[in-house]
Amino acid sequence: MTYIPFNKPYMTGKELWYISKAHHAGQLAGDGSYTKKCHQWIEAKTGTWKALLTQSCTAALEMAAILADLDPGDEVIMPSYTFVSTANAFVLRGAIPVFIDIRPDTLNLDETLVEAAVTERTRAIVPVHYAGVSCEMDTLQKMAHNYQLLLIEDAAQGVMSTYKGKPLGSIGDLGCFSFHETKNVISGEGGALLIHTPQFAERAEIIREKGTNRSQFFRGQVDKYTWIDQGSSYLPGEIIAAFLYAQLEEAEQITATRMQIWQHYHQLLEPLEQAGKLRRPIIPPYCQHNAHMYYILLQNLSTRTQLISYLQQKGIYAVFHYVPLHNSAAGQRYGRTHGNMNNTITVSECLLRLPLFPELELIQVEQVVRAIQDFFNET
Ligand SMILES: *Cc1c(COP(=O)(O)O)cnc(C)c1O
Repeated sequence: MTYIPFNKPYMTGKELWYISKAHHAGQLAGDGSYTKKCHQWIEAKTGTWKALLTQSCTAALEMAAILADLDPGDEVIMPSYTFVSTANAFVLRGAIPVFIDIRPDTLNLDETLVEAAVTERTRAIVPVHYAGVSCEMDTLQKMAHNYQLLLIEDAAQGVMSTYKGKPLGSIGDLGCFSFHETKNVISGEGGALLIHTPQFAERAEIIREKGTNRSQFFRGQVDKYTWIDQGSSYLPGEIIAAFLYAQLEEAEQITATRMQIWQHYHQLLEPLEQAGKLRRPIIPPYCQHNAHMYYILLQNLSTRTQLISYLQQKGIYAVFHYVPLHNSAAGQRYGRTHGNMNNTITVSECLLRLPLFPELELIQVEQVVRAIQDFFNET
């Protein structure tokens, strides 16, 4: 029988070599030479003012929430169709996530709904670039400007994607990357905060280093190192940075390989879309995505449930996500919903993610698509 997992973390081959070099250099704590190389790589690649590695995208979002200087009861507009960390980071500061619906095409937050959700207490908008396909950043930037809101990109899935030529994560005031093993460029757990607004740069370093001015001390800018602000330990060790640097060096190649797989799915699934059995992803022409995800939208929940078990019987592992945050226990306790959530609910019931990882062979893509075709022929 075939066995096709949903994901298999990719190794470029240089990770262990770089880890041993980090060990040999004698620094295993954070902010050593590999961390610096990663910062420089992200800054050069995205054009952001400053990049800081974090232990996860969750940690980067938490740092962004601290930088936003929120008071309890302040509001942050975001989609409900996202991972929990998008909301949790702000809830930890006592802020209220205000959930709005998503667009039916890209499944990103519907920018036309933002304005009506703005109140006196709104402080930030948090677009999530779903599947590495950009939100409508021009409109969101205008909105943020008009209402003096921070624009914080959850670009966890958006590493190597662009919007009108601009790298995701570097468009808003702050951007958050994930290098979790389920993402494209990985370090097991890992992330980065991208700071596009220079005014945040100094404080971000302090928050990341337990509220101390340690980074300035090491640069010789201050003569003692002490506690000066709120903070926590958000920086990864050098082993993680060494692993990540090996991946960043291959980021173009990883993206190109994933794109081939993505395109193969996209072509082979076209007839099923034409037959009305499913809908394929829609990519606006000015969005260059990173092939983070190949998903299909089925007609309803029961078709999806049946298809998942049909594929599983054939050894193919396809998965769905998210339970909409506005319907979750914590979302109801800590958040608020603005407007109807029709698209969010439909997508959460109908979306199915197909296996996609660099080592997936094109012939395996064909097996997956054939299994989906057989499913529709048999039911
Ligand atoms: C993966 C993901 C996160 C969390 O990333 P971690 O690095 O695991 O903390 C946050 N938001 C979105 C949209 C994600 O896909």
